[in-house]
Amino acid sequence: MKSAAFNYVRPKSVAEAIACLSANLSDAKLLAGGQSLLPALNFRLSAPALLIDIGRLVELKGITLIDDCLRIGAACTYANLLTDPEIAYHAPLIAEALAHVAHPAIRSRGTIGGSLANADPAAELPAVMLALDATIVSEGPAGIRRIAAADFFTGMFETVLTADEILIAVEIPRRERRWGFAELARRHGDYAIIGLAATMGVDGARLAFFSAGPTAIIASRSAALLGRGIPDRDRIEAACVALAEDLPEYCDPEIGAAMRLHLARVLLRRVLNVWLSA
Ligand SMILES: Cc1cc2nc3c(=O)[nH]c(=O)nc-3n(C[C@H](O)[C@H](O)[C@H](O)COP(=O)(O)OP(=O)(O)OC[C@H]3O[C@@H](n4cnc5c(N)ncnc54)[C@H](O)[C@@H]3O)c2cc1C
Repeated sequence: MKSAAFNYVRPKSVAEAIACLSANLSDAKLLAGGQSLLPALNFRLSAPALLIDIGRLVELKGITLIDDCLRIGAACTYANLLTDPEIAYHAPLIAEALAHVAHPAIRSRGTIGGSLANADPAAELPAVMLALDATIVSEGPAGIRRIAAADFFTGMFETVLTADEILIAVEIPRRERRWGFAELARRHGDYAIIGLAATMGVDGARLAFFSAGPTAIIASRSAALLGRGIPDRDRIEAACVALAEDLPEYCDPEIGAAMRLHLARVLLRRVLNVWLSA
């Protein structure tokens, strides 16, 4: 199928993009990498009258160290992130996760801002942002907002962004931490059946599951049972048991809730055993 007809504008600044969005609230969509939006248009799941292309805005590009944060512009593509030395040094979890996202063609166009704004419960990056305790920065007519990743995702394909806001950047706190990532998919590059992004810092573990519910989910009871430092086998098993309380009963046509919980435990053991043996 082909998309319905639409108009297209490419603003020259974030301010211009916000003005354009505010003037066309009911019938405009932001276009970043287009890797989720364009299929949705072609399937006629969405038919905006206007696309506002923010994918090439220089203000939304760049990966910089600011004080104790790594700031990533919303229009950075997955390919940018996969090859950036600051990401490799300060947030290797991002690159590890992105290696599992789709295929090179999609990774060359898809953006971090597009993925987070899209809030697909099966996407890797929302869970990675939860595990890294990231802050999501948005801008709209009312100014700039900083939103903890834990407060950003409100439902399946839903976030706290208002219709006139643009996600402009992500800030990752620079901290000493271990990290781990694991996902199960039918083929490499497919959306995961279940996945886990995890970190362990001085303040304890952060375990973020994806494809486990309507949004990426922090498993806080399991993380609390792991305590601080590298957990022993008893604590690992207690954390695995507690996943039944942390994760919702979530089934889809692919697998049922009991199998999904079992696989979540498999991934948690897998990540923690790597830490144990390191
Ligand atoms: C075949 C295929 C396989 C894929 N597999 C995976 C996978 O395994 N894992 C995965 O995570 N993803 C996967 N994707 C999706 C891909 O990661 C998309 O790139 C991503 O979901 C959206 O990023 P984008 O930059 O392309 O955004 P777009 O498609 O341009 O936009 C997506 C949505 O976000 C909004 N938006 C975009 N940027 C902003 C912004 N800065 N502020 C506010 N709103 C914004 C748009 O208006 C739109 O509603 C796959 C896609 C395809 C086509």
